[in-house]
Amino acid sequence: MIRIPFHRPSITDEDIAAVVACLESGWLTTGPRAAAFEEAFASAVGVEHAVSVSSGTAAMQLALMAAGIGPGDEVITTPYTFVATLEAIEDCGARPVFVDVDPHTALITPEAVERAVGSSTRAILPVHVAGHPCDLEGFEALALARGLAIVDDAAHALGARAATAAIGALGTATCFSFYASKNLTTGEGGMVTCRDRGLAEAIRLRRLHGLSRDSWSRDGGERSWAYDVVARGIKANLPDMAAALGLSQLERFDGMQARRHAIAERYQAAFAECELLERPPAVEPGTHAWHLYMARLHLDRLGCSRDEVLTELDRRGIQCSVHFRPLHHLSSVRARHGVSPGDFPVADALWQRVVSLPIYPALSDDEVERVIETVLAVVRERAR
Ligand SMILES: *Cc1c(COP(=O)(O)O)cnc(C)c1O
Repeated sequence: MIRIPFHRPSITDEDIAAVVACLESGWLTTGPRAAAFEEAFASAVGVEHAVSVSSGTAAMQLALMAAGIGPGDEVITTPYTFVATLEAIEDCGARPVFVDVDPHTALITPEAVERAVGSSTRAILPVHVAGHPCDLEGFEALALARGLAIVDDAAHALGARAATAAIGALGTATCFSFYASKNLTTGEGGMVTCRDRGLAEAIRLRRLHGLSRDSWSRDGGERSWAYDVVARGIKANLPDMAAALGLSQLERFDGMQARRHAIAERYQAAFAECELLERPPAVEPGTHAWHLYMARLHLDRLGCSRDEVLTELDRRGIQCSVHFRPLHHLSSVRARHGVSPGDFPVADALWQRVVSLPIYPALSDDEVERVIETVLAVVRERAR
């Protein structure tokens, strides 16, 4: 039996040639390829500025720092995310405030966030879970009324669109991840996009120790050794080797997204009639990035748990995953923030029933059909 992995990267000969060309060029760290990647990325998203960084986590930490968020400030976010979202808030010295998600979308809503805004609230950090766009226009209205920043976690959302613009072109700053399994990868990497030049410059400065000039802009110039440190920064620049891969992937990104959309459509159609599964919510065509396809089990109609379904799928060669074990279920987060399971009932109930199915451009039509047949067989065999 040939196993279908949860993820398989799409790496073409062009991707490999682009990285090799970088290695041969003699310039490996942040330089001309990172600059070209930033320019192409900003133009693909339709936003003024893009600053490349070493990870999605660093993107969020830098965006919050540059927006002036620090000790004593509160940032409202979701417990239904990966721990990186929380770490970025903690690493800039701020305190996270969690609000529960909407049961339909698994996203936090402007209404729920508004109820949690207090005198120390300085920012909102929504997460576009699975690539389903949050209501950013709603968050913008709230942010404007209450003087808050919006830093959105778009680790899943390259290619997604809110009502009026692409994710990445709204809010204060948007943070993308290029981790190996994300819709576009550089192995490890990330990007912050924003509309404000001053904010982009503040992020650019802080991604490399707060140095007044990076080594590429110092290279070969007069007094090339001279620099000052003009802000408190971190070490989070994106090397050109990684940027070369990102630039190459970006060139065929529309095609990769078209494949994700086709797979999602096939899954949506195949599971439409199955009363044992709930499909992820439909959105306007072309607005979902389909990073994940999160099916939800109707556990009340099944004589087993989600974990048993996962184990059986795995036994039959289909590797699935779970997004996410909520933050308030994680031991260290519980200890750090005094939260515990049960605190956010919608997230508590949702994560018990979600199964993320394989969805990526390298998945063949035959594999998609095998996933569908196997999922339907496994749940039907367990129907009450
Ligand atoms: C992947 C991911 C991140 C972190 O991105 P890195 O590039 O690995 O730092 C943040 N948030 C979410 C929701 C993610 O899935």
